[in-house]
Amino acid sequence: MTPLQVTQTVDAIAAEPRSGYDAAMSDGYRQLLDATIQHLEGLKSRGVRHVAVAPETLRALALPAARFPISNFPSPISKVAAPPAIKTEPTISMPPKKSPGPTPIAPPKSEISNLKSQITSASPEKAAAFTALRERALACVKCPHLAASRTTVVFGVGNIDAPLMFVGEAPGADEDEQGEPFVGRAGQLLTKIILATGLSRADVYIANILKCRPDTPGQSAGNRPPTPEERATCIPYLQEQIDLIKPKAIVALGATAVDGLLGKTLGITKLRGNWQTYRGIPLMPTYHPAYLLRNQAMSEKRKVWEDILKVMEKLEMPISTKQRNFFLQT
Ligand code: URA
Repeated sequence: MTPLQVTQTVDAIAAEPRSGYDAAMSDGYRQLLDATIQHLEGLKSRGVRHVAVAPETLRALALPAARFPISNFPSPISKVAAPPAIKTEPTISMPPKKSPGPTPIAPPKSEISNLKSQITSASPEKAAAFTALRERALACVKCPHLAASRTTVVFGVGNIDAPLMFVGEAPGADEDEQGEPFVGRAGQLLTKIILATGLSRADVYIANILKCRPDTPGQSAGNRPPTPEERATCIPYLQEQIDLIKPKAIVALGATAVDGLLGKTLGITKLRGNWQTYRGIPLMPTYHPAYLLRNQAMSEKRKVWEDILKVMEKLEMPISTKQRNFFLQT
């Protein structure tokens, strides 16, 4: 935990955002809130009783929902799925109109998640195999330096029947502390991207090439990419995860994920947006959300969003006009 963070009980945090839970809340916010609560409940079920929270986040949690935006990647889904404005009908000189209902600018909720209907409950055999794999990974000491420096093994999170899987590089400090991938700043942006498709973190599966945080001896902060040896040692766990989950598509986030899965170094700039194949599964390389945090250009966000649109098409997810045109209007 950094000096800037304080701990807060998981229960308290889960309850906190409800203070702004009102009818005016956008669907995007509500989905994000649900995902947060689900995440906290997951932590709680794993015995975690406190989480690190930056003081400014605590302050923001106390504000009404509308004043607590998660910025950086504007959420198309919050715009798309916002409740339609109720128009007041004129009362004079107009024949009563047969109500056509609001013009749908987004597919109905039931359709938004036709992908969700593909998400079935895992068979007991699959769940058991996954649990056994997790237990092996949690006890792994194949990289003694990482086993010594880590707080937790960050195995992966989400639905083990998910049609869509996201693969990143390696846990950072937040992930190491909480035991879950993509929970820091880059993770919040990834969550936002997932929500923008109409899915939630619980509908997909998220994992990394490396399950332990790369150590940074002699440094109190900062990250480093995994070494080729660390990658080679750890990748079998990810391969087994993918073999069990059998996603219909994988999004590889950043060069380490792409190189780690495809075993070649072609350069993320060249590869992104172009379908590849990993053990027979369509794989879409795209930029890592941390890159979008460093490079705030709208053009780069649009590239990632275009890659995600291709994934949505591949999975035959409905795509609204708003979603399709997102980032084009600037
Ligand atoms: N970056 C990653 O690649 N993975 C994480 O889990 C967090 C940040």
